[in-house]
Amino acid sequence: MSMNVVTLLYLVASVCFIQALKGLSNPKSARLGNVFGMAGMAIAMLTTLALIVKQASSLGSDLVLGLAVLVGALIVGGAIGTVVAARVEMTRMPELIAAMHSLIGLAAVCIAYAVVSEPSAFGLALGGELPYGNRVELFIGTFIGAITFSGSVIAFGKLSGKYKFRLFQGAPVVYPGQHALNLALAVAMVGFGVAFFLTQSWLPFIVMTAIAFALGVLIIIPIGGADMPVVVSMLNSYSGWAAAGIGFSLNNPMLIIAGSLVGSSGAILSYIMCRAMNRSFFSVLLGGFGAETAADSGAKREQRPVKSGSADDAAFLLGNAESVVIVPGYGLAVARAQHALKELTDKLTGKGIDVRYAIHPVAGRMPGHMNVLLAEAEVPYDQVFEMEDINAEFGQTDVVLVLGANDVVNPAAKTDPASPIAGMPILEAYKARTVIVNKRSMASGYAGLDNDLFYMDKTMMVFSDAKKVIENMTKALE
Ligand code: NDP
Repeated sequence: MSMNVVTLLYLVASVCFIQALKGLSNPKSARLGNVFGMAGMAIAMLTTLALIVKQASSLGSDLVLGLAVLVGALIVGGAIGTVVAARVEMTRMPELIAAMHSLIGLAAVCIAYAVVSEPSAFGLALGGELPYGNRVELFIGTFIGAITFSGSVIAFGKLSGKYKFRLFQGAPVVYPGQHALNLALAVAMVGFGVAFFLTQSWLPFIVMTAIAFALGVLIIIPIGGADMPVVVSMLNSYSGWAAAGIGFSLNNPMLIIAGSLVGSSGAILSYIMCRAMNRSFFSVLLGGFGAETAADSGAKREQRPVKSGSADDAAFLLGNAESVVIVPGYGLAVARAQHALKELTDKLTGKGIDVRYAIHPVAGRMPGHMNVLLAEAEVPYDQVFEMEDINAEFGQTDVVLVLGANDVVNPAAKTDPASPIAGMPILEAYKARTVIVNKRSMASGYAGLDNDLFYMDKTMMVFSDAKKVIENMTKALE
């Protein structure tokens, strides 16, 4: 295969990736976007495979052994990926994504080490010397890869919430001089990078990598509660830049383009999420703000009375309303109640009631989680409203039905400047005439905070699994 054909095929794959991103920006075209993404990846992989065969034959390497290792890795990796993707629950997706980011970071570090130890195998060394430009690329690819790896491992632990290890707890880990330490380590890391650039010796390269691994952990541990969505998309961006950096070392344009697409789209997503949550990108990046209040909030919680009712009571309120806004949250996804919810809404709209869904940008556990959930149940798009489009409507709404949502409707974000979620825009459900909240208990949401909405006079709590409650409400409406 000539290099021109390789370049052409890489170009086709790149166009597929761009089409994939474009398709994924809208629920209607998301499926087609995925098809483009898969086609692009298949073309990129097969072309790279052909390129490796060509380069191995020209270098006189053992082609059979090389191919066996490569195909074996593809089969094992592909099989693990298929099984994991088929088995993962939608609510566990962010952890899976964090785990995958960690692998991309680690791969970038491994490739950089392979290049530094044997540059000639990559066609880079001139008399054993790595060109200065490549040293810079290797330094950047390695430190971003190492930070991505260790940071993603911590994010994985925090998101899963299954491990007792202190650093894997959702609550932020903060200590005096944290930012100063991180800054000092970052400066030292760059210093060792410069030493590697000047000498091409192993010691500064290894020390620089070790500091980057430590920094990844230290940057993520102070971030907790409601700010994890930004961390996930930030690590997504880092993993792209790490891949792009290594693409320069390997002289592989496909890796550079794909890495840049992931890096820039992840950065744009992080920016959009920061804006949606009214956060400064740098304060999330530096971590730890609002940490003390988050850790204390559980202890300070007092017992207050709440009004609770049954699914039948809730159905009565809904059946007598003229307008209903449904706020879906993480609990709806846990209960897998989206199809039952669609049936309930069909019943309500059949009675002439105006039903709309209100989507908060960080509801659930991944960007777009609620949109995906509602799309699965084939909820019509014209019933689904983004936060900024529906917030003004709550004041004129008869009943708001909050299903498994908590942080995204917590008025503390507006009323309590000391709250860790202070300043985060919320769905203003508390403005409606009546509020029905369904969850299983008075337990807090992801940010670990109590919620004043639950104690308001106009609020009725319905305690049970979301699917059960929705099915019972539908029956009661019949
Ligand atoms: P929350 O995590 O705030 O609350 C979910 C609520 O659902 C809980 O209070 C829980 O209460 C209830 N619940 C759980 N299971 C069920 C069930 N089977 N039936 C009924 N209720 C149930 O969710 P929100 O969607 O309001 O907010 C999302 C939070 O997650 C935000 O803090 C956000 O920052 C964070 N986050 C978001 C990410 C994203 O990208 N979207 C990524 C990572 C974190 P109970 O146990 O009493 O039932």
